[in-house]
Amino acid sequence: MPRPNILFIMSDDHAAHAISAYQSRINQTPQLDRIAQGGARFDNCFCTNSICAPSRAVILSGVYNHLNGVKTLDDKLDNRVLTFPQLLQAVGYQTAIIGKWHLGHGPKWDPVGFDYWNVLPGQGEYFDPPMYEMGQKKVFPGYATDVLTDLSIDWMKARDKSRPFFLMCHHKAPHRPWQPDARHAHLYDDVDIPEPYTFNDQYEARMAADAARMRVDRDLTAEDLKAPVPSGLTPEEEKHWKYERYIKDYLRCVASIDDNVGRILDYLDEAGLAENTLVIYTSDQGFFLGDHGWYDKRFMYEESLRMPFLVRYPEMIEPGQVRPEMAMNVDFAPTFLELAGALIPETFQGHSLVPLFRGQVPANWQTSMYYRYWMHMDVNHWVWAHYGVRTERYKLIYYYGESLGTTGSHNLPTPKTWELFDLHEDPFETRNLYADPGAAPVVEALKRELARLQDGLDDKAFEG
Ligand code: CA
Repeated sequence: MPRPNILFIMSDDHAAHAISAYQSRINQTPQLDRIAQGGARFDNCFCTNSICAPSRAVILSGVYNHLNGVKTLDDKLDNRVLTFPQLLQAVGYQTAIIGKWHLGHGPKWDPVGFDYWNVLPGQGEYFDPPMYEMGQKKVFPGYATDVLTDLSIDWMKARDKSRPFFLMCHHKAPHRPWQPDARHAHLYDDVDIPEPYTFNDQYEARMAADAARMRVDRDLTAEDLKAPVPSGLTPEEEKHWKYERYIKDYLRCVASIDDNVGRILDYLDEAGLAENTLVIYTSDQGFFLGDHGWYDKRFMYEESLRMPFLVRYPEMIEPGQVRPEMAMNVDFAPTFLELAGALIPETFQGHSLVPLFRGQVPANWQTSMYYRYWMHMDVNHWVWAHYGVRTERYKLIYYYGESLGTTGSHNLPTPKTWELFDLHEDPFETRNLYADPGAAPVVEALKRELARLQDGLDDKAFEG
């Protein structure tokens, strides 16, 4: 089998539950669904730290944030850290990254390992985005999602066709402040979007959740809402009005991504590349779509922890599969290297997903994962630093109550507190069982597993 081309499409903050292939209750994404129908949908793909820069650093470096140095939004990825694109180049791949980077700019942080790079500065702009094309700042007129798709297609057209390619197309959308283009500005105008099941969560026995400042009814800004709040509404009506303002703009941004993924898939068809190109659609993390009454991410809760992961590669992947096995963003780098026939460095901490693509589950496949959100009490969201373990059935989270000196954090001590959820009985994580005497054996086993994972991954930074 010839080595595949790899097209890695990653959006920013697109939760799996806003994709119809994942049974979204609130929108349709027919183009994204094409990837799932022609390949596989992974139902348990998780990020190790649910925030932009850290997730991107994990994907590139193949190691967790305590080792790649990007623990928070304010850290940059030192480009002396080994990343997989350099290794793909070394085995003859043409490599490119187009779109969001968010790992720093300048000689110490610019992308390395890419034959072509053209990236948005920082968070990037939705309209007429300035970009650094191989370090030169230029403005690209148009809507970011269209612009990045055009640039990606143009790069594929102009590539050296004698060699396989690896392309990262990284969208800015649907990141805050959720600015849709004119084409989708009135989508959903006459529709009432249903609220999620936990929209009116009261945060009982979850102090960290109660303290967070990312509530739809209280914390969305005038810039987010883009219209003055109507007078005369009851509190419930006002909350619902804000939810509709937020979620419709979010879904309009998603609709543009869906259209543009359709365009890029059409290009692969027209160019005869569909059979021999592995296409992935994912997002750097999930997002709360009114779940728990929130927007944003950061928490280890399911909606934020879960990444969409759709993959198509007809030469290897049987179409229409649903894969329940646990996968993580740290697994992406070894996956790409195996597909390219490159050696996987022993320092990389993930596991190649290629056996799962082939429908073969290794006997010792991972059944637990380690999560760590390092930022503490950031000025906007007030989310407490935490780490935890998720198994197939349970999740144990520890909020350790201090910043440990991480960037972008405030060193305000917060209560040290634990949460335990039984995901079979309580999939929406509203019943913290940690203090339940009957849960003691489960807690003990999960604490052992947490310690085993931290030890194996060499994460030693704990509170004093
Ligand atoms: Ca993000």
